[in-house]
Amino acid sequence: MSDSTSSAVAGGADPLVRLSDVRKTYDVGGTVEALAGVSLALDRGSYTAVMGPSGSGKSTLLNLVGALDTPTEGTVTVDGHDLAALSADDLAAVRGTTVGFVFQTFNLLPRLDAVENVALPLVFAGWDRDERRARASDLLGRVGLGDRLDHLPTELSGGQRQRVAIARALAPDPALLLADEPTGNVDTETGDAIMSLLGDLHAAGNAVLLVTHERRIAERADRILHVRDGRLERVEAPADGSGPGGADAPGAAVDADAAEGAGSESGTGTGDGPTDAAGEGR
Ligand code: ADP
Ligand code: MG
Repeated sequence: MSDSTSSAVAGGADPLVRLSDVRKTYDVGGTVEALAGVSLALDRGSYTAVMGPSGSGKSTLLNLVGALDTPTEGTVTVDGHDLAALSADDLAAVRGTTVGFVFQTFNLLPRLDAVENVALPLVFAGWDRDERRARASDLLGRVGLGDRLDHLPTELSGGQRQRVAIARALAPDPALLLADEPTGNVDTETGDAIMSLLGDLHAAGNAVLLVTHERRIAERADRILHVRDGRLERVEAPADGSGPGGADAPGAAVDADAAEGAGSESGTGTGDGPTDAAGEGR
């Protein structure tokens, strides 16, 4: 298993995201190891689902990739940049334009109406006001909220808020969309609409990293990362993954060069960071 896991997570020569032996611990009256050494790569345009029990580190993983939090050890690179080396302004640019976030709890700004919430990332991306409003209105129309443009979050249902949050995440046309259980708090119909929006984004060439509890949702991805106790336990290629497949498809034959590349960059040289020392609990 360790061989196939390391090859499947090694990624191509120029991945959009690379995690090298990333650990994250929290000190709250004792140490919680949220991530216990994760190495993986996300290729540009890839579609990856993350599954695992509650508390296994899924949200921590997304937050680190999205530059919302920093690792205790290891490195996270996004679009070739080591996040730890970026200035505050550059980090804001990564968060604002390279990466879009859909949170489980929506995180809309309560005093801004739907258009203003969706337009917010475009402020950081330097769009002018009219362009921002036009883009935001268009996106809200595409998520079925064209008649709710000036509603505040409190004037919207849970499913509608989630759709505003998705429109906001899509606004800057991010190279990577991070979605943390985006269908967790909405009805099945809204969930399906959300998933089809994510599918459109992926079809347009953007990468998606999605946390979900639902097997049928995870199966839309090119590969499923199974996380347990802060470790990457297994990488699965769903039989009916909707992605392009091809030579670097998940579960493709072991690619020694790619695996070696991942290993050397992480500094371990072993190429099996995600699965080694399973019982060690460092
Ligand atoms: P998941 O999203 O898979 O449910 P999380 O990544 O949210 O898991 O959490 C992983 C572990 O880290 C859990 O044990 C959780 O309690 C802990 N944790 C997450 N965030 C914090 C935090 N800010 N402070 C302390 N512990 C945290
Ligand atoms: Mg979570």
